[in-house]
Amino acid sequence: MSIKENLLVVTNTIPDTVTLVAVSKTKPMSFIQEAYDEGQRIFGENRVQEMTEKWQEMPKDIEWHMIGHLQRNKVKYMAEYVSLVHGVDSPRLLAEINKQAEKHNRIISCLLQVHIAEEDTKFGFNEEELLELVSTKEFKTYKHIKIVGLMGMATFTDNMDQVRREFKNLKDLYTKLKNNYTDFNILSMGMSGDYNIAIEEGSTMVRIGSSIFGSRN
Ligand SMILES: *Cc1c(COP(=O)(O)O)cnc(C)c1O
Repeated sequence: MSIKENLLVVTNTIPDTVTLVAVSKTKPMSFIQEAYDEGQRIFGENRVQEMTEKWQEMPKDIEWHMIGHLQRNKVKYMAEYVSLVHGVDSPRLLAEINKQAEKHNRIISCLLQVHIAEEDTKFGFNEEELLELVSTKEFKTYKHIKIVGLMGMATFTDNMDQVRREFKNLKDLYTKLKNNYTDFNILSMGMSGDYNIAIEEGSTMVRIGSSIFGSRN
């Protein structure tokens, strides 16, 4: 199937209230252009250099989301244009995003990444660390970032009960924080293999790559 057809299948299975991030990492700009021509405007990348090259070349009304693990020394290269950072997983990274955003006189929207998977390999805060972070003094002094919600990745497994349980936990935490942080309106969870479950469990933003652009090497 073509990108156009894949995109149609995906968008037809996502409610209007859920935002689609088309994950274009490793894929050429011609693929992005094809999705763009179908009306897709939000693209997700996991490497700053690749995203920046694409941002420079592609139409300027594209919103670029950084979805991968982010190193602090790379933040400066995307601070000018990135529209949402999904994977904020440390207080120091948050401080750096705030600092670089200030240089460009911007407020960068961020999601805090929560470790919901049983695997050790996925980055993110646990609940205790998250509640501690949002209660610190520094957190309140950051004027150039806006925390708009949470992001999480479920365990890579065929056990869909487990995946559902992990998404449910993230949704619960999101609801808990949303009561205190009025800026919270994004719960980023769900990828090609599990986005239907994620949506059933309350996702408001899905990050879908291979179901749209084909598998990656
Ligand atoms: C690559 C990636 C995705 C998309 O994965 P697919 O399985 O191709 O849909 C989503 N989220 C993150 C954080 C990723 O790194």
